[in-house]
Amino acid sequence: MNPQARAAEFDAADALAPFRARFSLPEGVIYLDGNSLGALPRATPEVLRRVLEQEWGEGLIRSWNDAGWFEMAGRVGAKIAPLIGAAPGEVIACDSTSVNLFKLIAAALRMRPGRKVILSEPGNFPTDLYMIAGLEAQGLATRRLVEREALVDALGDDIALLLLTHVHYKTGAMHDMAALTRAAHAAGALVLWDLSHSTGAVPVDLTAAEADFAVGCGYKYLCGGPGAPAFAFVAHRHHADLVQPLTGWFGHAAPFAFSDDYVPAPGIAQLQCGTPPVLGLAALEVGVDLIAEIGVARLYEKSQALSQFFLACLAAHGVALECVSPPDSSARGSQLSFRHPEAYAICQALIARGVIGDFRDPDVLRLGFAPAYLRFAEVAAAARHLAEVLASGEWQNAAFGQRAAVT
Ligand SMILES: *Cc1c(COP(=O)(O)O)cnc(C)c1O
Repeated sequence: MNPQARAAEFDAADALAPFRARFSLPEGVIYLDGNSLGALPRATPEVLRRVLEQEWGEGLIRSWNDAGWFEMAGRVGAKIAPLIGAAPGEVIACDSTSVNLFKLIAAALRMRPGRKVILSEPGNFPTDLYMIAGLEAQGLATRRLVEREALVDALGDDIALLLLTHVHYKTGAMHDMAALTRAAHAAGALVLWDLSHSTGAVPVDLTAAEADFAVGCGYKYLCGGPGAPAFAFVAHRHHADLVQPLTGWFGHAAPFAFSDDYVPAPGIAQLQCGTPPVLGLAALEVGVDLIAEIGVARLYEKSQALSQFFLACLAAHGVALECVSPPDSSARGSQLSFRHPEAYAICQALIARGVIGDFRDPDVLRLGFAPAYLRFAEVAAAARHLAEVLASGEWQNAAFGQRAAVT
């Protein structure tokens, strides 16, 4: 196979190719980290300028009503809902993924009196495990971590909640959401899915899976910008029993009644805590609109094609790296991860060549294939760069071994 020629064929036939122009990406960069921080949509600066200069600058406080700031969290949540198989009133855009995890773990514990165990897997994303630990320190939860193969057997009658990340951040391995949710329910437990590496990249159907709760990230495949608000999902059937611990005034039924007593807003709005980050929501809305316009089914199809093509290109170059992502593209998210003892230095050598991926401790080179803007030609070029870096040994340059604070 001639990778470049094949890439040209794929790019010419790619129905999503025109969407590349809707993103702003620097010249000379092959961006394989859209799974960590999504690229900037071209429309975002203009929208933010309008929100800053007109809505804030001119409208001032009137914009809470006139510019719809007050409804933004629910509006953006309702736009995220169809991307994850949820109904509009089941999703709200608010806080960070970490904070939303805390609220929903606590809410789940309250719905399962007599059970305290939160079941998860070792190696889950750190914040997910840390947020359980925080509730454990409050005496409210007991954390139990069990390898993924043994999760179903571990669903005993003391489990309140099964908390899992749908697509694993390090390996890209995807859980069977429907099967695990069914198994948890059969054991009387609730399920909370972290969709941070799924939303906008792989199809998710929370309704079909009968999921109870979910959270997810706004700055990864949704392209909401650094620190974008996250989202939270609660199935309609739980709204009547929903009680979350961060009872701030924006989750109140009537925040501007300024009452002394907390009365939760009905439905998903109760998950808000303080004043919503309007600028962050405005940027997130642009990303969500664009991803929704492209459509998750098409994105997933291209994502699988991109990662399969990358593997084929590596093979064509004779590169034999240990791939820790599932070999079957339908069993993984939109990324490939490779294990190498010098993964950090290799990643730095690639970045020096303009190929931006990332490193995950202790030995994983992680390459994300964001389907909304990546070209097959870039995938072919990235594989060639990786082959050259490995063959030349240039990663042994001492400068590539110096670890930065943020990797
Ligand atoms: C990125 C990511 C998060 C991020 O949480 P923040 O609160 O936004 O820092 C959480 N969970 C998973 C699985 C992630 O991949």
